[in-house]
Amino acid sequence: MSIYIANTGGTISMKRSNHGYVPAAGHLQELMNHNPVFHQPSMPKFFIREFDPLLDSANMCPEDWRRIAYDIRDHYEAFDGFVILHGTDTMAYTASALSFMLENLAKPVILTGSQIPLVEPRSDGVRNLVTSMQIAANETLPEVTLFFNDELLRGCRAVKANSEGFEAFASPNFPPLATAGIDIKLNRRLIRPLPENDESLTVQHPMDPDVGVLWLFPGITGTIARNFLRPPLKGVVILAFGVGNGPSHDREFLGALAEANQRGVVMVDCTQCWSGTVKLGSYATGKALAQAGVISGHDLTPEAALTKLFYLFGKGFDSEVVKQMMGQDLRGEMTVNFPGNLHQRPANSS
Ligand code: ASP
Repeated sequence: MSIYIANTGGTISMKRSNHGYVPAAGHLQELMNHNPVFHQPSMPKFFIREFDPLLDSANMCPEDWRRIAYDIRDHYEAFDGFVILHGTDTMAYTASALSFMLENLAKPVILTGSQIPLVEPRSDGVRNLVTSMQIAANETLPEVTLFFNDELLRGCRAVKANSEGFEAFASPNFPPLATAGIDIKLNRRLIRPLPENDESLTVQHPMDPDVGVLWLFPGITGTIARNFLRPPLKGVVILAFGVGNGPSHDREFLGALAEANQRGVVMVDCTQCWSGTVKLGSYATGKALAQAGVISGHDLTPEAALTKLFYLFGKGFDSEVVKQMMGQDLRGEMTVNFPGNLHQRPANSS
């Protein structure tokens, strides 16, 4: 078994400097060469490719997703699995983006990193990397996933949950695909099946950059919403209150949404809440958004909703097709037929 490790940067391979931690070329290879843990018989053979430049993931953009996706495609046949070392700050965005971009994926792609650099004595990096490598080498796992702090999460369900703790990631609306204790236990029932067709891996590129996220807050004005929704915007994730509600008494605000809808802007409602789903029919404040053209993002994470818009518009679909596909589960990113949606309150009960 052999795996491909792509080091894109992030804390795991950083070094201390006078300006704080900075990416350092060649450092990871050197650390791994000198650490016997990585060369024990139970570890797979591995090849490391270092990206140039190594990035703090706060500097990553869709062009970097493209580079990672094509790098996997170019080495796909030669390796059994792929580990992508990545900074934690935007790892959930990259994991979601790659989930959509890598079509017909049949091998494990695992993103991991650490909160403390590998070079430091208290680093969480060795544990995250060793377990990711073992899973990537040994399991049938046709998904993009994220491994951190002993949990393997579906990539398009993961969110960064803690800026300091070792439990940096969570998957609030979907259980972990595996947990690592004395044994690594996979929850095979949850893992997606291998692609049915024999088609080889393809990479969807480009991603369409004309998308965004609008976080609602008490007092948001129609003018602010209107300015945000202006061209070239094609798709927007609206982070709304509770089960997807917004200020339904504000005609200016609703008017701004309705105008954007008329122009074909796809507006996807996700909740600001940590977990749970959107139910636009529950309250008059949600229905008003739906009447202005906003569609439900169900239990999508903001990261998955945004990157799905990048992906669907990138495929060249028009607004109507994008709207329809936003409601379909493509990679396990959303729970369709979420039980709550089947039991909406009657219209007069809000
Ligand atoms: N700023 C770093 C990054 O995202 C943080 C980390 O890796 O934990 O690259």
